[in-house]
Amino acid sequence: MSDYFRHTKIIATLGPATESKEMLAKLITAGVDILRLNMAHASHQWVKDAMWFIREASSEVGRHVAVMMDVKGPEIRTGVVDSPIEVKTGDRFEFHIESATATGDVPAVSVNYPGLPNDLEVGTTVLVDSGIIRMRVFEKDDSRVRCEVLTPGKIGSKRHLNLPGVYVNLPSLTKKDEDDLAAGVEVGIDFVALSFVRQAEDIRILRRYLDKLGSSAKIIAKIEDQAGVRNMEEIIREADGVMVARGDLGIEIDYHKLPLVQTDLVHACQAEGKPVIIATHLLETMIHSPMPTRAEISDISNAIREQADAIMLSGETTTGAYPLESVQVMKNIIQSIEPSVGGDINRKIKLHEPKAKMLRSAAVLAQELGKSGIVVFTRSGFLAYVLGALRARGVPIYAFTDVQPIFRQLLLPWGVEPFLIKFSDDPEQTILDALDYLKRKKWVDPGTWLVVITNALANDKIVDTLQLREVE
Ligand code: PEP
Repeated sequence: MSDYFRHTKIIATLGPATESKEMLAKLITAGVDILRLNMAHASHQWVKDAMWFIREASSEVGRHVAVMMDVKGPEIRTGVVDSPIEVKTGDRFEFHIESATATGDVPAVSVNYPGLPNDLEVGTTVLVDSGIIRMRVFEKDDSRVRCEVLTPGKIGSKRHLNLPGVYVNLPSLTKKDEDDLAAGVEVGIDFVALSFVRQAEDIRILRRYLDKLGSSAKIIAKIEDQAGVRNMEEIIREADGVMVARGDLGIEIDYHKLPLVQTDLVHACQAEGKPVIIATHLLETMIHSPMPTRAEISDISNAIREQADAIMLSGETTTGAYPLESVQVMKNIIQSIEPSVGGDINRKIKLHEPKAKMLRSAAVLAQELGKSGIVVFTRSGFLAYVLGALRARGVPIYAFTDVQPIFRQLLLPWGVEPFLIKFSDDPEQTILDALDYLKRKKWVDPGTWLVVITNALANDKIVDTLQLREVE
């Protein structure tokens, strides 16, 4: 079997440390399955250039990679300051809307959301810059909010504000998100990650917008606040996958409950058969250090043991000094830990249709055979997503499709290795072509028994079949 096979996928976020074609080629060769474009800081020209470099690098090294655009959703940021403002415990500080001026008697900064004073109550906690600075509202009017500083720090330009437990009346998809998506769809993004998803309707709004743009990109719901956690079940049903966005989530909920919420989200996704991504701070220290901490190794191992579909790098690959090493470290941990994970098939998954239930039998059979694999032919990707969700450890899922966008979307689910081929009019010929391809590319050796899920013609009727085939 090829060196590339592993169940858990790796996502890397693109940034100055990784955006060159040479570096992209190295990352893809090292095993990155999906590249994330974070639209918090990106221009449309950057998206265009990045996509071009990604596709060039990928065809150069002969390995495919999907692209995920991460749009910001209802995010609140402070305005630009001439120099960072230092605040101490007990100080007073003011946030004012952009159309108002600062009162002038205390340090102040503008915010990009005019509804802020309306959404906050006296007593509400305001967290600045990823939760580093903590404040509490003690006074407000229509255009200003005054806070007392509880933990000190320096407030620079365009810092992110978190308001734990507050329902922010911003639309789930902002004008900026719509513009970003139009630029992304034009260059062929495969996934959209939507930030701060609070309810299933947020996903429906995004889906309608993507439909309008003519895009079939899959939607990943980023769960990162209390409303998202509360409504996780309806969100998971509506989305194509979930990201446990631990950066913001760890600020918006009690930090000591983060592991519990992570596990709940992983289990809820596995029950719905939807992919789940664990994101943020997996190798944070590798932004500056060539080696991970012991705690980071354990955190990644935990995600692999929970059988998340993918683990994600952010700062490590955007501005970090060791982006390639970070991917290598993840790959090494995956390769050490995966074989120790229990081989039980996912029993939580709800399988409704007979064909989906047949997939469970295929997974059991392939495990029973040992050193086997499942070959599946799919045009929508559905069968391969369900097979991935069944979590048959040790069983590679070789997913063949003739649909280009679906091919790249199959890079996310656990254990799925996608291939793009032409389907013949004769299903038997398509199977033979697929098996021959796997043998030529050294994914399987002659003598291997594979489980094949395909359609067959029986008395002029198309029937679903599960077959056993030996590679010749
Ligand atoms: C997060 O908050 O964990 C996250 C992935 O989102 P972002 O990187 O956009 O802040």
